[in-house]
Amino acid sequence: MSFDFSGKRAVVTGASRGIGEAIVRQLDASGARVALVARSADRLEAIAAELANDPLVIPVDLSDPASIEQISTAVLEAFGGLDVLINNAAVERNQPASKVTGEAIDETLFVNLRQAFMLCSAFAKPLFASQGAIVNITSTAATGAGGTQGAYAASKGGLNTLTKNLANEWASKGVRVNAVAPGLVDTEMWGPTFERLGEDAVRKGFVKSVPLGRWGTADEIADVACFLASGQASYVTGQIIRVDGGMTNL
Ligand code: NAP
Repeated sequence: MSFDFSGKRAVVTGASRGIGEAIVRQLDASGARVALVARSADRLEAIAAELANDPLVIPVDLSDPASIEQISTAVLEAFGGLDVLINNAAVERNQPASKVTGEAIDETLFVNLRQAFMLCSAFAKPLFASQGAIVNITSTAATGAGGTQGAYAASKGGLNTLTKNLANEWASKGVRVNAVAPGLVDTEMWGPTFERLGEDAVRKGFVKSVPLGRWGTADEIADVACFLASGQASYVTGQIIRVDGGMTNL
């Protein structure tokens, strides 16, 4: 999908693969200068090498509290401001609730929710100045995930609530805040589930709950995320758009 992000500056977390990479590529193709955030420096550099608009690579681990300041300092030094923040990075550690560890809960809530909130806060003033937009990538799991997804589902439910709260808090500042909640999307995030339950069984079994009858692609999520970040969504805020082939419509 094509949008006009000429002259805009964006941060995308979880930019090293999957949905984040697709968002980065679409933003860059639409004219934005993008800062790519994730742990895998090699992957970020390889993606950045294919971008047109002088990207910035920021290899950090969001589970480190210091990463927020590292990101905001690097971005504001290089870009001088910010127009679009995409909170996309997430970890998913599925454990039965009877065996869940505090460490897994802490990491999941920290990376998926706490750090997304901290990034919004760190970029608040630049986003107020640019009348910018935030897009949080949540999940249909937020509203009733399958078994063993307690921590992940809670983190995404929290991010949905944060999205609505910030939309109200910052509407008067001219900042829009929305979320995209993907359903089944074919990315490396599914690797551990494929390993545990068998790739063929998961691919064919899970898709039975999708009215459109197929898995989504990273680009189909990026299309909606970029729309929400763009001026074409100038009257849209506080919304959680489910992009799930109709799965949650059943
Ligand atoms: P993915 O392929 O597993 O990618 C996750 C991204 O997050 C990677 O770029 C990873 O980079 C980054 N990341 C993870 N932990 C990090 C950390 N501690 N510090 C910095 N970066 C970190 O997942 P995806 O499918 O593209 O998912 C993207 C978003 O969509 C996530 O928020 C996910 O919850 C959501 N979602 C996905 C699906 C789906 O079916 N795929 C469904 C619903 C929601 P590094 O490993 O390089 O750090």
